[in-house]
Amino acid sequence: MRSKSPRQAAIKWVGLDARARGQGGLEAHIKVRQTPAGPRNSTSFSETGPDLIDTGERNQSRRRGALWSTRADIMASQGRICPDKRFLIFFDFDETIVDETSDDMVVQAAPGQYLPSWLKDTYQPGRYNEYMQRVLAYLAEQGVTECDIRGVMEKIPATPGMPTLFQFLRNRPPQDFEVVLVSDANTFFIESWLRRAGARQLFHRIFTNPATFNKDGRLVMRPFHSHDCQRCPDNMCKQVVVRDYVARRTQERGRPFQRVFYVGDGANDFCPALSLGPRDVAFPRRDFPMHRLITETHEAMPGEFKAVTVPWVSAEEVVQRLKKLAAE
Ligand SMILES: [Mg+2]
Ligand SMILES: [Zn+2]
Repeated sequence: MRSKSPRQAAIKWVGLDARARGQGGLEAHIKVRQTPAGPRNSTSFSETGPDLIDTGERNQSRRRGALWSTRADIMASQGRICPDKRFLIFFDFDETIVDETSDDMVVQAAPGQYLPSWLKDTYQPGRYNEYMQRVLAYLAEQGVTECDIRGVMEKIPATPGMPTLFQFLRNRPPQDFEVVLVSDANTFFIESWLRRAGARQLFHRIFTNPATFNKDGRLVMRPFHSHDCQRCPDNMCKQVVVRDYVARRTQERGRPFQRVFYVGDGANDFCPALSLGPRDVAFPRRDFPMHRLITETHEAMPGEFKAVTVPWVSAEEVVQRLKKLAAE
């Protein structure tokens, strides 16, 4: 069994039980990261081509009323997504696509593959992302390079059955699935893994925190967006991402998707799944926080959680259900 990481300890506060603790405690927890958006760093995935990554900067620029065109705007205007897709499927990344938490795995790039206790002791509840920035700074100080971090990411194993699910989605007719990734990890970790796995092209869009190496070789993360959700960490509410995306795509297509699917594991996947309707399907990893929160909600507030729930241990179970629904 893996020991509980600060990441897992942090997210367990977010969710239903956080509400029960009252706003004071939650407030203390969610004030996480207030990094200014800053200028765009040109070292961001210059090697990866015109991909559909959305790091929230478009939202931020809109809020600021800025007129400058961002990369996300350019990508959106390319409109490469087949307009007739029947289904929309969202994926989380950590513990959903990969069988670990990438923020924990990056420690393996550190000398001796561990963090000194003086650094670990700086973790404070509610300050997860600041802690992570200190970890990344420490790695850079220790001479850990972009290449080292990429190497660690590339070795993270896929979750059981996930390669089968990816293969299934790849082999479906082009009008079947629009595939979107929404993660509170960061662009560098996710891109590294997906490219090595040969799965990058499967995703029409990736929503995550922008991360770039600065001139000192340190990976610097910025928040994806800001939002008002009391349930989620400051830098990302996946429900806002999902709602905005579904609304925008519905408008662009001129009609809704037949069904929306969400595959996840964490407490921060519960919030977006709450926005799904009765024809949609939530695929929570069995006995992980998202699954527990759905179960608790069904008991405490019947009718509040509307989507059909299909828990999974292997993603092959997701394939089985998608096959049935696609055949309807
Ligand atoms: Mg996760
Ligand atoms: Zn939220």
